[in-house]
Amino acid sequence: AALSPATFLDRAAYAFADRIAIIDGNRRFTYSDFHRRVARLTSVLEGLGIGPGDRVAALCTNSHVMLELHNAVPAHGSVLVPLNIRLSEVELVYIIEHSGATLLVATAEFAERAHVVGAATGVRVVVAASEPSDEYEQLLRGASEPVYREPDERGLLAVNYTSGTTGRPKGVMYHHRGAYLQALAMAYHAGLGTGSRYLWTLPMFHCDGWCFTWAVTAAGGTHVCLRSIDTAQVWRHFFADGITHFSAAPTVLTMIAEDPAAAALDHSVHAGTGGAPPSPALLERMAGLGIEITHLYGMTETFGPIVVNQWQPDWDVGSAADRAVRTARQGIGNIAAGHVRVVAPEGVDVPADGETQGELVVRGNNVMLGYYRDADATTAATIDGWLRTGDLAVMHPDGYVEIRDRSKDVIISGGENIASVEVERVLDGHPGVVESAVVGRADERWGEIPVAYVTVRGGAQVEADDLIAFARERLARFKVPREIVFADLPKTSTGKIKKHALRRGE
Ligand code: ATP
Ligand code: MG
Repeated sequence: AALSPATFLDRAAYAFADRIAIIDGNRRFTYSDFHRRVARLTSVLEGLGIGPGDRVAALCTNSHVMLELHNAVPAHGSVLVPLNIRLSEVELVYIIEHSGATLLVATAEFAERAHVVGAATGVRVVVAASEPSDEYEQLLRGASEPVYREPDERGLLAVNYTSGTTGRPKGVMYHHRGAYLQALAMAYHAGLGTGSRYLWTLPMFHCDGWCFTWAVTAAGGTHVCLRSIDTAQVWRHFFADGITHFSAAPTVLTMIAEDPAAAALDHSVHAGTGGAPPSPALLERMAGLGIEITHLYGMTETFGPIVVNQWQPDWDVGSAADRAVRTARQGIGNIAAGHVRVVAPEGVDVPADGETQGELVVRGNNVMLGYYRDADATTAATIDGWLRTGDLAVMHPDGYVEIRDRSKDVIISGGENIASVEVERVLDGHPGVVESAVVGRADERWGEIPVAYVTVRGGAQVEADDLIAFARERLARFKVPREIVFADLPKTSTGKIKKHALRRGE
């Protein structure tokens, strides 16, 4: 059979039939229930006139509905388009039209928006309220024979739109083989098994919605759905459901670690973090709480994490925190991935001296097919058959790849390059600072100057001058922020700080 993630649930339903697959509020589904509902959903799709290759959009909170769609749509041979639940109606209309979706499944929270989008685009809307009376449940009850189609391994699985951190979201085309291998890699790296209880602190509509959905399912673990990010809820689940695993962007990890409940954690938990650079200060805090951390680097275009760094006590490369913020050794970071290189603009490798910066490029099983309906962007993102990440990195002599910054976030001041991340790491090391973001501001004399936006820990008395003095002791003078702005930082739906919004002064 073709390598397709849709096969994971078949096996799980056989091997783990009576185990709890999903906890979603008051509802619990065993693997048999899950499998039966997914089989019915394939029949529903067929009945609604969806054919192979047709796009099915989902505007869903983390829920059993989203997990069902992630399994049924690939098994049926149609193509899932997970939508970011925080997008505005205008943005949703853009993606529905761009993807050509003909069906939109929405959970009840988004019923109104889905209907507005439906009216604007003509897409058929089905609302799932998880009530016996709602249309989704009625359709499932009325389903007949399941419709499974064996996929082409390199065939289109999904179109996942990027976070839009740097501009308009791009539609990333996923294939079955990549998602299958990526899921196995995540199950392996996170150490998932039948006893694992995975808390969905990540949005399922993001790329991790693919790899962790199937990783947990392949392992026979339990999905615990978190419908919105609320730290009190997170901690309630930690204790009530015995959560063993979760993943979150560094900002979300910060929120979780700042909660007073954190001190009471009484069992071992494994967390994956990435999507943006975690600071060593944060990783040390997590370790102090007894949470084991895996640092992940990846992008939507690579089906999620492509380089993975698990803390290994016997690695003697710098301090533990320093190791953790580096990524893993070239090419072996993720067992499913191919290779990564660091190259100069003309495509040749930069020297592995731990100093010379270049762009990180990736090739392998878990690289996208391209951007949907955007040949120009696909060409621009490719160099000699390698995917350009847009991230600056250095290659260390021992083979470690260190991500420095997004090319777009580098600040150029008086001809010197400043990695915004380096300055943030210093500021985040100050005891009164929760998180920070450093961006360039246009300046007549210097071109750009670094400006820091900082969130201070509740009750801490921190003055701008203290922080500047703190940074001065630890950074070259040109890297020290010229101004400190105390603020709550704007975030994307995946919990990343929107530096472009800060740059525009929003
Ligand atoms: P868009 O491409 O729409 O602007 P985005 O790049 O934020 O948005 P994602 O695909 O979600 O969308 O994010 C991938 C990017 O996130 C990477 O290219 C990198 O810049 C950043 N990133 C991910 N993991 C890490 C990490 N561990 N350390 C530093 N940066 C990271
Ligand atoms: Mg990107």
